Amino acid sequence: MAKAEWQNWSGWVKAQPREIYRPETEEELGRLVAKSHGTIRVAGSGHSFTPICQSDGTLFSLEHLSGLISTDSEKKTAKIFAGSTIRDLGPLLHAQGLGLINQGDIDRQAIAGAVGTGTHGTGKGLKSISAAVTGFRLVTPNGDVITCSPDENSDVFHAGRVSMGSLGIMSEIDLQCAPAYALEERGGRLPVAELFDTLDALRDENRHFEFFWFPYADDVLVKTLNVSDAQPKTRKRAPDGQDGPADIAFRKLCEISRYAPFLRGRLQRKMTEEGGSRYAGDAPGRSRWSHDAFPSDRNVRFNEMEYAVPAARGPDCVREVAEHMRRCGVNFLFPIEYRYVAADDAWLSPFFERDSVTISIHQYHKQSYRKLFAGVEQIFRKYEGRPHWGKLHTLAAEDLQQLYPKWGDFCAVRRGLDPDARMLNPFLRNLFGVS
Ligand SMILES: Cc1cc2nc3c(=O)[nH]c(=O)nc-3n(C[C@H](O)[C@H](O)[C@H](O)COP(=O)(O)OP(=O)(O)OC[C@H]3O[C@@H](n4cnc5c(N)ncnc54)[C@H](O)[C@@H]3O)c2cc1C
Repeated sequence: MAKAEWQNWSGWVKAQPREIYRPETEEELGRLVAKSHGTIRVAGSGHSFTPICQSDGTLFSLEHLSGLISTDSEKKTAKIFAGSTIRDLGPLLHAQGLGLINQGDIDRQAIAGAVGTGTHGTGKGLKSISAAVTGFRLVTPNGDVITCSPDENSDVFHAGRVSMGSLGIMSEIDLQCAPAYALEERGGRLPVAELFDTLDALRDENRHFEFFWFPYADDVLVKTLNVSDAQPKTRKRAPDGQDGPADIAFRKLCEISRYAPFLRGRLQRKMTEEGGSRYAGDAPGRSRWSHDAFPSDRNVRFNEMEYAVPAARGPDCVREVAEHMRRCGVNFLFPIEYRYVAADDAWLSPFFERDSVTISIHQYHKQSYRKLFAGVEQIFRKYEGRPHWGKLHTLAAEDLQQLYPKWGDFCAVRRGLDPDARMLNPFLRNLFGVS
């Protein structure tokens, strides 16, 4: 029998599972899990860079378990099928007067995929998407269904919000939302020295603040989003994956830089210059509903590493990362991204009980990332960084147990639900120290 093919977004992780199942109901999902062969994995939209979805046994896709089930207009919560993409959820929630509290750079992820790795946006006091989960239904590795919340199966709830599909397959998720809101976007260039002088104010004065730094440039690009009363403009979205003019131009530069590495400094300065005029903070921006305002379309493929470091150490860490990238001799073109995420209480959340700054580095998908990422990872580790579960890192159980106070509790819950480790592929076995 021909094996099915699966690959992740960057194209670097490939799998040939014996079966790919696409159940249409929770009951069918439970039945299929119970009769599955080999390692069982579930994939969302395949936007993780690590091999967490890889399976040579059975791979589940919940693309047909998608949509809004119900909302509670008093509590501002929504019950959602776990396979829904964030992009599809936006208009559905908006029609009910709701919006997600925060979102990341893109909206192509399945909600369960985003929750499973602690996916986040930026904003002082704003937590990851996983922290907005108030409950979920889980199909366990033997096909049973359990309901998890702070009051019911609470250990599985605390372990399960950020668990990379290692405890079972979520079929439904309850999410805390916010009343629908519009955001005004502003941005522009700031000299690096001025950025670090005003960093705390930029963080405190904006609901969402982040910056992008091409390490060879003398300016950074800042981006803010703030709640706005202005009439939001509707955003016309291109179909998923369709290139816009910015993608075409950026891809061309990546190809030029790939073959002419000596141009990387000049190209990075040029991209910064073209990233906007000097940031003033008060120039009128464009206003859109939150689900239209958050996502960018990212069609130039790359690989990525991201660590969350204690918020107070973020500025030192990012300076050291930029310095290393300039000196390490590796050719790269993408900027560093710097964001804020508030502490939460999910046991394996990179933000567990720690206000954090996340720092991400990227490499064009046609260039090797290993040397660049290995050097930067050593800096992240020096700053007590915790890796993003969906992004590249080389940590294993012995490193991770030092970083996560609830590591042992998590492993006990995992063993209880899956004593034969059927949900673990080789990558996850190494991660959890299971032979
Ligand atoms: C272009 C790009 C931009 C990105 N931007 C951001 C960003 O701004 N912020 C950020 O934090 N991250 C970002 N990421 C990373 C991304 O959000 C995470 O890797 C996320 O987990 C991907 O979601 P997915 O639906 O593709 O999940 P997948 O990568 O398919 O799966 C992720 C994990 O979730 C598990 N899972 C999926 N469905 C279920 C289920 N039903 N039940 C239980 N477990 C399940 C999988 O087994 C896997 O372990 C970005 C990635 C890319 C490629």
